Amino acid sequence: MAVPRFAAIEAGGTKFVCATGTSPADISDLTRIPTTTPAETVSKVVAYFNKVKEKGGPLNAIGIASFGPVELDDSSSRWGSILSTPKPGWSDFNLAAAISSALETPVGFDTDVNGAALAEYRWGAAKGCDVSTYVTVGTGIGGGTVINGRPIHGLRHPEIGHILPPRHPADVAFAGVCPFHGACIEGLASGPAIQERWGMSLSDMPTDHEAHDIIAWYLGHLALVLHAVISPRRIIFGGGVTDTPGLLDRIRGKVRELAGGYFGPGDLIDAVITAPSLGERAGILGAMILGENAWLNHSQKSKSQREGRERA
Ligand code: ZN
Repeated sequence: MAVPRFAAIEAGGTKFVCATGTSPADISDLTRIPTTTPAETVSKVVAYFNKVKEKGGPLNAIGIASFGPVELDDSSSRWGSILSTPKPGWSDFNLAAAISSALETPVGFDTDVNGAALAEYRWGAAKGCDVSTYVTVGTGIGGGTVINGRPIHGLRHPEIGHILPPRHPADVAFAGVCPFHGACIEGLASGPAIQERWGMSLSDMPTDHEAHDIIAWYLGHLALVLHAVISPRRIIFGGGVTDTPGLLDRIRGKVRELAGGYFGPGDLIDAVITAPSLGERAGILGAMILGENAWLNHSQKSKSQREGRERA
């Protein structure tokens, strides 16, 4: 049997990253398509993969790691849809169905952060960890947790960026930018929240600027909640804001301070907080795993149907 080949889409609010392959050593056809209306974006993505198929042969399945919130309940007719989003036109759009029917392939679908968490679990910073969480801090703040190779779903999917943290004593006046909660973690520590307060990105501020301590405070509280609720062996901080030099060390310091020695010795706690090993590729590689899972499920179903027919 020929080696399978998967299409992968990291569907973001500003761009769709598309690629094919099976692993970090095998990524090709990488391209970026701007996110505009659903119809225009999907038609460009489909045209792109049709060209890829003409050149390189069939694709066995497609995986989509999407911005959210999304419907992940596979007993729902809305499975694969984007739920209520401020992005015009995208609320209730069934992204998985649109792509899958146009490309006539099985489709895997999950959140962008669950995808990244899966990729870091298989190939990156959380390899061998039974419980790990991937947090992205950029335009928004979100996190995906993988337990023994499976991302947590549940009623919908966790939205850890929307926890309400205690306020940093020097930051009580700022209302926060989350349209739903104002001063949740995303409303206080995302890229737009930093821009709103200080007019520049965290990495552009001098290292003695109070913003560094304030942002580390909120992300430290987030890490503390994760320790307390799910006890991950790794909390991987990705996304543009966490590229700021020194920020991870500041977060480690906050967690030590807040934990009061309760969650284990400081060096154990320090080692939990880490940067992604796969860098920016975690999302697209996660989408590839979702494609592979869809293909495995599809193959399993076809096999059971064949066996059922043979028995009948
Ligand atoms: Zn919020």
